[in-house]
Amino acid sequence: MNAHVKTPVASVSERIARAAAVAARYADDVDQKGRFPAEAMQALKDERLMGVQIPVELGGEDTPIAEIAELCSILGQACGSTAMIFAMHHIKLSSLVEHGMGAEWHRGFMRRIADEQLLLGSATTEGGIGGNLRNSICAIEVEGDICRLEKEATVISYGVQSDAILITSRAHKDAASSDQVMTVFLKDQYTLEKTHGWDTLGMRGTCSEGFLFKGEAPAEQIIPEPFAEIAAHSMLAMAHLLWSALWYGIAVDAVHRAQAFVRAAARKSPGQTPPGALRLAEISGKLQMIKTDIIHGVRQYEEIRRNPESLTMGFLIAMNNTKLSTSTAIIDIVGQTLLINGIMGFKNDTPFSVGRHLRDAYSAQLQISNERILMNQSTMLLVNKQDMSLLG
Ligand SMILES: Cc1cc2nc3c(=O)[nH]c(=O)nc-3n(C[C@H](O)[C@H](O)[C@H](O)COP(=O)(O)OP(=O)(O)OC[C@H]3O[C@@H](n4cnc5c(N)ncnc54)[C@H](O)[C@@H]3O)c2cc1C
Repeated sequence: MNAHVKTPVASVSERIARAAAVAARYADDVDQKGRFPAEAMQALKDERLMGVQIPVELGGEDTPIAEIAELCSILGQACGSTAMIFAMHHIKLSSLVEHGMGAEWHRGFMRRIADEQLLLGSATTEGGIGGNLRNSICAIEVEGDICRLEKEATVISYGVQSDAILITSRAHKDAASSDQVMTVFLKDQYTLEKTHGWDTLGMRGTCSEGFLFKGEAPAEQIIPEPFAEIAAHSMLAMAHLLWSALWYGIAVDAVHRAQAFVRAAARKSPGQTPPGALRLAEISGKLQMIKTDIIHGVRQYEEIRRNPESLTMGFLIAMNNTKLSTSTAIIDIVGQTLLINGIMGFKNDTPFSVGRHLRDAYSAQLQISNERILMNQSTMLLVNKQDMSLLG
């Protein structure tokens, strides 16, 4: 353990509450200007929440996935963009925690992340294949102990602000498109030439611009396990669960606003049930279904972490289903809060506004297109029976 790294005295829940308060304060400004949520990200670093997933022996806190999902949900209730950045950072970090513990360079890098509270970015999407995560066009070139990569990375969230980028490519120039590796490049080991902007409907603060990525680094920074293993054993589950957790958080905040609106209406007309109350009751059940789905998914993933041999296609189908259902349900839930709050929800400057929530919610179906996931599901379901048991 790093002797000079101080483990925070306050609990993770106290620390996230303080960071989320900062995120909430700046959420509308971040959204309006489409800018990086610098204040909230600084607060998360100040609260030393960027490395909590890392094992204690490397300076982290070994925080369980369920708690990290809760952190994403709490941030989602404050600012969708901040929550997405935090979630994506922890998704990338999980690739190191789950697949880099045996490699000295990656262990040292985890120590640095915990110590310096570094921010990790992700570059899987590629020009020509879009969100087809398990295929790459670009190939890493290894010459002696140096590796080089050039990638048309059409979407890298907070690319400019990242301290390092984890990037996928083919394993070598003759490799098949699905024979991939993931490599860590540090900020001073790559250049980013901007190719696409990010003026979007929602998730405006993620600053997910497109770049031509050019990197050169020691070859030992390539994560030793094939990307196929990383994707199946940790990344797919972490992405779908942490994204779902923050999307759930966005919906929770919209429902809180609707509840406040209905309560205010009830106070104005004592003895009468406000018209929005029934709809509120309906979405409360939908919210609970998402929550149950995520909690169950996290338990399934924890089981895979404990026992990697138990990974089945059924698990991958279940993770995809959680993503598919959460990403569509939140649009319905937030849409219904707009109906409850009416014009006060439609306006951007009232305590009942849900416009930002709705716009952020619409990104969920696109962050790895649901159409693409459904197509993969349909192929897997041709050969695999879905787990229908109620026992777990
Ligand atoms: C907020 C946000 C942040 C992001 N951050 C990052 C990041 O940091 N790094 C990164 O690498 N990526 C990032 N992405 C990109 C994301 O993960 C997807 O890869 C990307 O959005 C896919 O682009 P696309 O919609 O053009 O879909 P593509 O996958 O390119 O597909 C284009 C369209 O074709 C259709 N389609 C594609 N495949 C199929 C199929 N098999 N069956 C049926 N229809 C299909 C779909 O309708 C889809 O809309 C981010 C996305 C969002 C929304």
